[in-house]
Amino acid sequence: MRKIPKKRFLDVAGMILRNKMAKEAIYPFYCSFKLTRRCNFTCSFCNCWHVKNKWIDMPTEDVKAVLDNLARSSVIVCSFEGGDPLVRDDILELLKYQYEKPWYLLFTTSERDMQQRYPMAEYGKYIDFLHISIDEGHKNLDMYDELEEYTKWGSIVTVQIVVTKNDVGALEEKIRRCHDAGVKAVVMCAVHLKNTKDHLPDLWSMSRVGLEMKKKYPGVIISPDGYFNRITWDHGCDTSSIIVDADGFLWYPCRVLEEKTINLIDSDLMTYLESPDARERRQRMAACDIQCAWYQYYATQSFVNPRELLSAWMPYYRDLLNKGKQPVFAASPIAPRDPRDLIHAQIVQESAIRGLPASRSLVELPTIDASRHP
Ligand code: SF4
Ligand code: SF4
Repeated sequence: MRKIPKKRFLDVAGMILRNKMAKEAIYPFYCSFKLTRRCNFTCSFCNCWHVKNKWIDMPTEDVKAVLDNLARSSVIVCSFEGGDPLVRDDILELLKYQYEKPWYLLFTTSERDMQQRYPMAEYGKYIDFLHISIDEGHKNLDMYDELEEYTKWGSIVTVQIVVTKNDVGALEEKIRRCHDAGVKAVVMCAVHLKNTKDHLPDLWSMSRVGLEMKKKYPGVIISPDGYFNRITWDHGCDTSSIIVDADGFLWYPCRVLEEKTINLIDSDLMTYLESPDARERRQRMAACDIQCAWYQYYATQSFVNPRELLSAWMPYYRDLLNKGKQPVFAASPIAPRDPRDLIHAQIVQESAIRGLPASRSLVELPTIDASRHP
């Protein structure tokens, strides 16, 4: 796990505060960067592989220009995705390049036989969180047999589970397997994209089952409670995360609406986000009633919402604090005065005792209200 300067956290916290004051997610803190559209899979809920035979990847220097742009922005979690980012020949060079940036890196793949085909231990030096997609849609369920192997490469491993309308009932088996292997799981709905089959599960069932699994297997599922709640809301998404396509263009306000805006190779992200065009798109997002349930747009706000911080970060906390080992903690009989100490103590204590607690037992955290304008 890399070390990020404290100043960076403070800068990002300042931008999150500005979002709060503006009552809209102007500044994103999470970015999915699609490094390629090439992929060895052909999942029926995905449309990125439709162009794979004629797709030409961005040159390395252009990818680096996008990374420089993102590093100047409010983004503190960058996610390398695709297609499959492993298929790029320059992936090691890009991993090394991004390692100098002030963020944590997620890396999502679904490749088979990774240990035979790629130097994963070498790649793992530059990857903070390795996400591996394994589910019915990817037709790679046999990879659950190799979970222990994936933990040897040095990154925190999370199995990404895309749930279709046919697979809600099969979720528990996968979560149990992740629990037994000591890896995490991120659970998300199969979103209905253009030119794909509609696999979107019933959102109320998904919400109920997701929350049940979180309680039953504490600390395994990193999808925040807020995700499983918001997917049932009329308007649960926001732009606290963004997606950059494999040609450098920014999808905005979201990937599902398939509207591209600036190209991050040569246009400054932060300048655009403050523009009238970006604001108008965010307003359209706030009024959108598609209820697509795309994970990032519904989930990432939980990671910066003071009321949800505790439940959202709990699954990661043991890893960040104790290198994956179960912490041993004795509660002080005197409550700390500093709220940050209180939050820290609460997380460590509850994590040590019983993993993820029921939400009603959580500490109510202070919220920052926007100033009232006359
Ligand atoms: S593995 Fe991922 S990128 Fe490839 S086709 Fe499936 S969903 Fe799309
Ligand atoms: S609900 Fe509408 S605006 Fe929100 S992410 Fe989905 S398609 Fe985009």
